Amino acid sequence: MKRVFSGIKPTGHLTLGNYLGAMRRWVAVDQHQADALFSVVDLHALTVEHDPARVRRLSRQAATLLLAVGLDPERCTVFVQSHVDEHARLSYLLECVATDGEMRRMIQYKEKAVRERARGGSVRLSLLTYPVLMAADILAYGTDEVPVGEDQAQHVELARDVAVRFNQRYGHTFVVPRATSPGVAARVMNLQEPTSKMGKSDDVGPGIVYLLDEPDVVRKKVMRAVTDSGRDVVYDREERPGVANLLEILAACTGGNPEALSGVYESYGALKKDTAEAVVEVLRPVQQRHKELCADPGYVEGVLRDGADRARAMARPTVDAAYRAIGL
Ligand code: ADP
Repeated sequence: MKRVFSGIKPTGHLTLGNYLGAMRRWVAVDQHQADALFSVVDLHALTVEHDPARVRRLSRQAATLLLAVGLDPERCTVFVQSHVDEHARLSYLLECVATDGEMRRMIQYKEKAVRERARGGSVRLSLLTYPVLMAADILAYGTDEVPVGEDQAQHVELARDVAVRFNQRYGHTFVVPRATSPGVAARVMNLQEPTSKMGKSDDVGPGIVYLLDEPDVVRKKVMRAVTDSGRDVVYDREERPGVANLLEILAACTGGNPEALSGVYESYGALKKDTAEAVVEVLRPVQQRHKELCADPGYVEGVLRDGADRARAMARPTVDAAYRAIGL
């Protein structure tokens, strides 16, 4: 059975982008067709300015939401990254294989470094080496496939390069992974700035739909989405990014096709209304289940404890093999 690994950072409340771009497939496809692991990658949240208590709270919330969207701990492994030492242990070895030039070319690093400096802060070294830790997350499990949104494709590519280089240098140790991406909604855009992605780490804004937003909040955000000055509903990501984003969200929520849906609508208002309702319907069962799980914190804790035990047992042989391959 193929091995799948993916993760989510507890840097903010989870968004519709996280759900449509990644989590939805983990639930519908990956946990059924693969030996899959899903992790709340909390070490990655330390790469930028943060409040430790908030990261802890968000980690728990993200784990609860992973279960609320439908990941079944009987079918897959759900755990918190920092509970498994193997990630950090392997990351160091991979830092000795990756180069600083590779790190500096990463788009996300460039964007986030600019943001950190603009906030008057300094750039943490871990922000630069973040993709190496992510490579360790992936390679420690002999991962074949990494289901991610479009924004993470470059990091998975780096994990591939590092795996190939390590294998060439020290002998075959790692499976070389590949990214898989959803056809529709691989990059959900911010409703107020449809040329940038809907990212949870961004400041709270009316352009971001959170998984735990109340129905009326969702409706308000979608109805106020920025479109453009045109009138007809056409699907064109370059020229009409706002409308294209709404069509993609609607298509992803209803199982349709954005191109075909564009022919159905004659006004932006009607498109927004249907999109808002489709999102509300997708989020309703998730929010209900989240509420139930919050009432049973012992259950979530147990799932994470078991998950970490399982993950550790899977990662250790590969990480040990990497140390041995180097001759340590
Ligand atoms: P974020 O950018 O929200 O902090 P993470 O880095 O934790 O997200 O990513 C978790 C998963 O969600 C990744 O697979 C990522 O590609 C996906 N993802 C995040 N934002 C979006 C988006 N706006 N559209 C599609 N997928 C997304």
